Amino acid sequence: MAIFEGSIQEFHYFIGPRIRNAINNLTRKHRQNLKGICEGCGQKNELHSAHVHGRERRTIIETILKPYIDSKIINCNIEEAENKILNAHLPIESCFKFLCHSCHVIYDSNVKATKHSKESTTLPNGQNKESEEIEKVRRKVPLWF
Ligand SMILES: [Zn+2]
Repeated sequence: MAIFEGSIQEFHYFIGPRIRNAINNLTRKHRQNLKGICEGCGQKNELHSAHVHGRERRTIIETILKPYIDSKIINCNIEEAENKILNAHLPIESCFKFLCHSCHVIYDSNVKATKHSKESTTLPNGQNKESEEIEKVRRKVPLWF
């Protein structure tokens, strides 16, 4: 029974890469099952794994570790914590969207736009900051955000 004792930063540093690998294996399998069909536009393309906003790996890890924290120090059974963290990523579709490059850019720009909704995105000449390319693709993308 291996025990981890340390700060959250140390957990990310020492245990984080192991968890990242395990998650990459999960996303790879799922992505292969999709056979290159983008979840955004439905076109066949090379797919990226886009993180669902609010379901990032670090966010999930920190949520799962909360019960193990006492005075900012985590004390946990590594295997148990790791299993809980991996389970919290399932189903994998709840944490990732599998998108082509264009849809990935749009997805991330929409997340940013939501995060900074109070900031103006209009340039002095009245044009929107978003490139024409994004606008072009956005028009053919369904509202799946
Ligand atoms: Zn797409």
